[in-house]
Amino acid sequence: MDGLKLSSRQSAARTVISVGSLRIGRDFILIAGPCSVENEEQMLETAQAVKAAGAHILRGGAFKPRSSPYSFQGLGLRGLKILRQVSEVTGLPVVSEVLDPRDVGWMSDYVDLFQVGARNMQNFSLLKELGHTNLPVILKRGMNSTIQEWLLCAEYILAEGNPKVILCERGIRTFERYSRNTLDVTAVPAVKELSHLPIIVDPSHAAGKASLVPALSLAAVAGGADGLMIEVHYHPDQALSDGEQSLSPAEFSQLARRLLDLRKFLETSSQSETPVVRP
Ligand code: PEP
Ligand code: MN
Repeated sequence: MDGLKLSSRQSAARTVISVGSLRIGRDFILIAGPCSVENEEQMLETAQAVKAAGAHILRGGAFKPRSSPYSFQGLGLRGLKILRQVSEVTGLPVVSEVLDPRDVGWMSDYVDLFQVGARNMQNFSLLKELGHTNLPVILKRGMNSTIQEWLLCAEYILAEGNPKVILCERGIRTFERYSRNTLDVTAVPAVKELSHLPIIVDPSHAAGKASLVPALSLAAVAGGADGLMIEVHYHPDQALSDGEQSLSPAEFSQLARRLLDLRKFLETSSQSETPVVRP
């Protein structure tokens, strides 16, 4: 694929990104938490529940890219302070979305990983700024973007000197309206063929409905994803954003068990598999 100087499979061995004792790209990573940080109690209860279920990283948006300017925009700095505090109590690293290049510097004191949202995938000044930090960046695929456009955005971060990019497939816009987006499972093996970067899947924004999240999550693991990012809210019906697609802690816990079992099964069965090699 043209233009992939640093992200292409040929340019390096598989990238493994360390966050504390986690090895993203080698170990299977479960990221869970609410769409938005709402208050201390919500974050602490959710964090403790997802940690007990096996999650490795806590998510929570403090700056929310909402379609309407009248929808909840996130708690900003107050939300990041809550995230940091909950991280200290639970020991879970935290990821949060950055919307503005001017926020990259100071936000590094509050988050362990940055998230670039689908709407900002091609915000080139944001990507360049993230290229100057040494924190990992989860780069979501734009809802109307090709795999090549997405990898070229990863290239912007890599070219500025930050090698720690994790790609995240979160569904693309198609003519289908039953689900919020269409999960492009093909992107997982395609990115693995094209790039050495880790790829995770966000089934929540693809589905838009909690009922579809388990099947999409299992499909992503079977397709070879390095991890998943799943929205979990302690009271989904009261969430300030994305409640319809959020799992309850009990639903997440049940799903996490199935995902870890499937991953284990695939790891054992792949050892005896003969790879299909085509020049
Ligand atoms: C989110 O993770 O809450 C979010 C807004 O996701 P996306 O950028 O994929 O829509
Ligand atoms: Mn969300």
